[in-house]
Amino acid sequence: MAGDTLTTKAEGEEVAVKYCTNLRASVETDVNAAPRAFVHSREWKKIMAGDPVEINPSVGHGMKIMTVAEWAGRWKRNDDFPDCLACGSLNTREHHFIQTWCRGNRKWESETLCLDCHNYSWRSYCDPEFTTPSEHEKERWNKMLEGNSALGVEN
Ligand SMILES: [Zn+2]
Repeated sequence: MAGDTLTTKAEGEEVAVKYCTNLRASVETDVNAAPRAFVHSREWKKIMAGDPVEINPSVGHGMKIMTVAEWAGRWKRNDDFPDCLACGSLNTREHHFIQTWCRGNRKWESETLCLDCHNYSWRSYCDPEFTTPSEHEKERWNKMLEGNSALGVEN
């Protein structure tokens, strides 16, 4: 069953559907002075306090006091959602993105950091029909059991 989880495409689907197009529900938005996503939240507190944070392993090792721009310098802007929800600046970097697809239904979260006002813009979305892969498995299992009892099959 594990192989059935987190599929990127529905079965038989040929057209690539993007996570953020043809949305069927509203996107939840939120602005915060600190990350809403857990990732980087401890580092952000240190950056704000002027304490050293761990250097990215791909460029070195050890701890260093960094500016926000230096710390976030390796992150990329999400061009699907480039604008800061607080000040409208396009000088943003995405630090958190997660998406789950189940049978063509989508659920995702994105959070960006604004390098101008240092606020975090949160966006999250869920298709109305979305069920998690495990919920879907359970549903399918129950249907199968119902089908078996209807046919008089003993387990
Ligand atoms: Zn901003």
